[in-house]
Amino acid sequence: MKELLGKSVSDIHELLSAKKVSAVEVAKTFLEHAKSNDKKTNAFICHTDDLAIKQAETIDIQIAKGEPLLPLAAIPLALKDNLCVQGYPTTCASKFLENFKPEYDATVVKKLFAAGSLCVGKVNLDEFAMGSSNENSAMSPAKNPWNLDYVPGGSSGGSAIACASGYSTISLGSDTGGSIRLPASFCGVVGMKPSYGVVSRFGLVAFASSLDQIGPMARRVEDVALALSQMHGKDQYDSTSIDQTKIAGYPDLSLSFVQSLKKESPQNVLKGKKIGLIADTIGEGADSCVREATLEAVRRLEAEGAKVEEVSLEYNKHVLPVYYLISSSEASANLARFDGVKYGARAKDAKDLNSLYSLSREEGFGPEVKRRIMLGTYALSSGYYDAYYKKAQQVRRLLLEEYDKLFFEQKFDALLMPTCPNTAFKLGEKTQDPLKMYLSDICTIPANLAGLPAISVPFGLDKNKLPIGLQLMAPRLHDGELLRFAFALEKLAEAKSSLSPVLAASV
Ligand code: GLN
Repeated sequence: MKELLGKSVSDIHELLSAKKVSAVEVAKTFLEHAKSNDKKTNAFICHTDDLAIKQAETIDIQIAKGEPLLPLAAIPLALKDNLCVQGYPTTCASKFLENFKPEYDATVVKKLFAAGSLCVGKVNLDEFAMGSSNENSAMSPAKNPWNLDYVPGGSSGGSAIACASGYSTISLGSDTGGSIRLPASFCGVVGMKPSYGVVSRFGLVAFASSLDQIGPMARRVEDVALALSQMHGKDQYDSTSIDQTKIAGYPDLSLSFVQSLKKESPQNVLKGKKIGLIADTIGEGADSCVREATLEAVRRLEAEGAKVEEVSLEYNKHVLPVYYLISSSEASANLARFDGVKYGARAKDAKDLNSLYSLSREEGFGPEVKRRIMLGTYALSSGYYDAYYKKAQQVRRLLLEEYDKLFFEQKFDALLMPTCPNTAFKLGEKTQDPLKMYLSDICTIPANLAGLPAISVPFGLDKNKLPIGLQLMAPRLHDGELLRFAFALEKLAEAKSSLSPVLAASV
């Protein structure tokens, strides 16, 4: 049954429909593979065998009754461990939440379970999703399945590893400044951050609420699109969520819409389309292999009839300070609830209420989380608010307007750039220098600041045989259009780059 591990949703469904495999067999195959191989990669914080088997048994009953297959029937799913699953640990890779079991499912979790998926486990991340390498996990870092000396990227490192290694077919991550796209790019899988509001954030442990989005990851664009078709929509528990179907002119992201996308040829999608290449992202700071891959993609897009033009954005150079001020400010407010009383592990030796708060926070949070809380509290304090937080919000607005101009005045259909200026780096290489680590997000942050949809698609390997990821961005709420471009780019990339050694050795 090992051949199941690298298969797409539609392949697994063909086997299920032909009764060549049962849902329980699918579950067991993935669970066993994950357990025996994850000692190397450390993607899982907890395996949820009982849940997966229970869900699989329900699917098998539906199949036996002759009911049609649900869109994600028997599809193994890994969840980033900052998404609430009722009755199962949700640690955020933090000592603070080591023993926390939520009372409810996140809306996305509920939706994907209702679509038939099998939850194989909760997976590793940087503590509270703060980081770019997964090394800030209090549960020990995860490792890149292409080369175990390298980081998988963060913060949704476990989610990317799970897809790249065949532990799951689909994973969910969260993306505040690039945390889905960066690990997708480092691990050679597809990862999408939907437009802000397209997916409900209810049940996601908040990092920075105006930037956070939950999104899908998979080895193929087709499966990312399928997962999104089941996750999006208005949710009464998240007032920022949107019902796309109510907004005229936007693709509805329905199942039939996303299934129609895969039938289109790249030429069909790309002919006459105007794509902007963000030139600064392949300048001096970028690895030559990443620059080469980007330019190769441009040549292939042009060969299919797209018009690619270089663009540069005036405010892009400010995105790092703007992001780290806004995200840390919001994080300092969101994480104020962890006090050892209402939320989080309580310190034992406190003498009074104040020392209970401070000792619990001292013991519960790791160094990067403390750094962000201090930065955010400082930026929000009276006297500094105008100079830092307010200024950052003003620049964010200017950046957003600049993107609007590109899409709506200059009529670009999509933007192309690398997901990261470099491929995966070695474990430990950047841990002593937070600023160097923060630079990994330079290409991904703009989409979060401007609320735009963005996707990372694998595009070949570097000289060390590590994956390169290219990023596409589209106007806000044009998530369907973005997927259409991503399908085309995937077809233009070399398919041979998509099997990680951990997966290749097993199938
Ligand atoms: N790497 C970025 C950070 O550390 C982004 C994190 C994220 O998207 N969750 O803040």
